Amino acid sequence: MNKEIIPLIIVGGGPAGLTAGIYSCRFGIKSLLISPFGGGLAASIDRIENFPGFPEEINGMDLVNRMREQAEKFGLEIVNGQVHRIEAKEKYFKVLGEDEWLSQAVIVATGAEPKKLGVPGEEKFRGKGVSYCATCDGPFFKEKGVVVAGGGDSALQEALYLSQIANQVTLVHRREQFRGSSYLAKKVRENPKIHLKLNSIIKEILGKERVEEISLKSVDTQVEETIKADGIFIYAGIKPNSEFVQDLVELDPQGGIITDQNMRTSREGIFACGDVRASAFRQVITACADGALAARSAYLFLNPEE
Ligand code: NAP
Repeated sequence: MNKEIIPLIIVGGGPAGLTAGIYSCRFGIKSLLISPFGGGLAASIDRIENFPGFPEEINGMDLVNRMREQAEKFGLEIVNGQVHRIEAKEKYFKVLGEDEWLSQAVIVATGAEPKKLGVPGEEKFRGKGVSYCATCDGPFFKEKGVVVAGGGDSALQEALYLSQIANQVTLVHRREQFRGSSYLAKKVRENPKIHLKLNSIIKEILGKERVEEISLKSVDTQVEETIKADGIFIYAGIKPNSEFVQDLVELDPQGGIITDQNMRTSREGIFACGDVRASAFRQVITACADGALAARSAYLFLNPEE
């Protein structure tokens, strides 16, 4: 049986993939988006306060749902599923998941996933006090004590969110200076419910059935201490979800897909956008911009005479 060759397949349903879908459909390209339900890291952000046009802040999941609705309005077909591999054939790509699809062009928008700290207890207590998503799990820690690990925008933003739920938030960061924005850092420093443990690393996560204590070590003095905590939220950075295309396109040492400024990868016909792309600045707005550019490049690839 001959399978239809779809002009464009978009893999990933966060802001980058959905924006690519909005633009590709408006360019008149028949497009299929394949993604597990979710909406990626953006959907796990409680409040996005720097997305233009939403001065009152917007919940990440709400924003992604609006994008999905808008993309479907323009005719984007969305399939719930996971893509495991892409094979380059002579004139098309074979996209393999639970099903198999053929396409002339592919936009990879698979985002990134949280990095692990790699300390004892992290795996053992995952889901039993260890979490990577404050929006998902924060409400379980009402009036309890939690630790947040990391010093980037995610750690700062989620510490602020958790300070509204938990009794006390201890933010542990391995340096004196935060990597995240000075705007968020100021809000964190001024928040009376957030207790800072700087120049400190997490040594171990301890407990019987669930997280009970976190053992810390000072980077300066090497002195160790153990603090009581009901949970720990880990924000140690992100890892691009690019493994399934690592044999097809060039990646940077961190696993980000290398593209030119028009989102073209090292493989003709494959484009990448959003957090999966090698980039020094990952925001919802930049993911959307990437998605629009990727759709335009896919359009020009499919219509070389334009
Ligand atoms: P990130 O910026 O890479 O920060 C990761 C943090 O974890 C750093 O402070 C890092 O410490 C620390 N870290 C990494 N490995 C560690 C380890 N093994 N032990 C202890 N600490 C460790 O990651 P992110 O905060 O998840 O942000 C990812 C991207 O999303 C960034 O581009 C960020 O700007 C963006 N983002 C933006 C917003 C916003 O604009 N509202 C919100 C969330 C995320 P060092 O600083 O010492 O390296």
